[in-house]
Amino acid sequence: MTDIVVIGAGQAGASLVAKLRTEGFDGNITLIGAEDVPPYQRPPLSKAYLLGEMEESRLYLRPHSFYDDKRITLKLGASVEAIDTDARTVALETGETVPYDQLALTTGSTPRRLPDEIGGGLKGVYEMRTLRDADGMAPDFAEGKRALIVGGGYIGLEAAAVAAKRGVQVTLVETADRILQRVACPETSDFFRKLHHGHGVEIREGTGLARLTGTDGVLTGAVLSDGQELELDFAIVGIGIAPATTLAEASGLEVDNGIRVDAQGRTSAPGVWAAGDCASFPRRGQWIRLESVQNAIDQAEAVAANMLGAGTDYDPKPWFWSDQYDVKLQIAGLNVGYDRVVVRPGEGGSVSHWYYAGDTLLAVDAMNAARDYMVGKRLIDGGRTADPALVADPEADLKQLLKG
Ligand code: ADP
Repeated sequence: MTDIVVIGAGQAGASLVAKLRTEGFDGNITLIGAEDVPPYQRPPLSKAYLLGEMEESRLYLRPHSFYDDKRITLKLGASVEAIDTDARTVALETGETVPYDQLALTTGSTPRRLPDEIGGGLKGVYEMRTLRDADGMAPDFAEGKRALIVGGGYIGLEAAAVAAKRGVQVTLVETADRILQRVACPETSDFFRKLHHGHGVEIREGTGLARLTGTDGVLTGAVLSDGQELELDFAIVGIGIAPATTLAEASGLEVDNGIRVDAQGRTSAPGVWAAGDCASFPRRGQWIRLESVQNAIDQAEAVAANMLGAGTDYDPKPWFWSDQYDVKLQIAGLNVGYDRVVVRPGEGGSVSHWYYAGDTLLAVDAMNAARDYMVGKRLIDGGRTADPALVADPEADLKQLLKG
């Protein structure tokens, strides 16, 4: 085998190509990315970078020289038009054809957009996904501006926190009856609602957007589902992401809420693999897709090893984080299927929420509670549980849970 091609130069693509070299692969590696910049970290875009506290150069996962040193051909600003899985070639928009022996798709995900019919295409309406998106909106984050954030997931809430810190008047609308409904328990929603209220952000739950309004193609306001009208300088849309599967689908790969892969990362086409946000994989009898840096790195590394013959199933050890104001949220595990939440109060307003299904500990949300996170993560990764009575007792030393 001499040629490995990777489509998608985000976190997963970058991790995959690096791992191929550390695993000793000596052939040609080509990493193709549609964006015009080398792979970078996305999480800071809605946090420190947007706030102006992190320079662009620090976003890059590797210096440019890394790719030269490791003999990795980077094709940036390059869109793949088609994959011929019989001929084993990739066709670029430019007309160039790249042959492969093995191919990996790390195409990530694309933000859901608001339809143009309700003003999604107006100038001043931003999505939060790429470095260019963050650069585009940054100048609007100024004292006294008025912003609408559409969507109360982590992206919307992080953007709201940065905007509020910059002195922007922020209204956030969430169609569900509480923020974070898709990803967290009511206790965690309550925590973040209170935090944002304390910083002057107006959160409107159970409220959608009827339409954005504009003059000469530029956003000037919004009408909410309850009829309220707002005057606005800009809007940020954080209504979720969809796996980037168009290319895979057009190439005849099996797709169902993501590119279907087996436990080792193989798609339905011979010699073609997938990892990261775009991949739907089996875990404990279910098909899941994870949108996190943890998954992008770990699954990509597992796939790299498997491309070289390791034959190892990928078993994710999920973790995630969010920064809002002075709160660091750390999440261990996956809360899917929880039936109860145990609250562990900490000092100085720190708290953690422990998700159980029956007696099984599934996940922990830790708000400024690094120790709880650490203990919870070790238990969950080790397939162990935690006595809820002990968890709920703020006097109890959680470290005892790790013994035995
Ligand atoms: P992200 O990672 O972008 O934060 P999530 O799916 O976790 O994505 O959160 C997006 C949130 O946006 C969800 O809570 C969803 O209910 C909300 N949402 C989706 N569409 C709209 C809409 N048109 N108006 C307001 N909120 C919306």
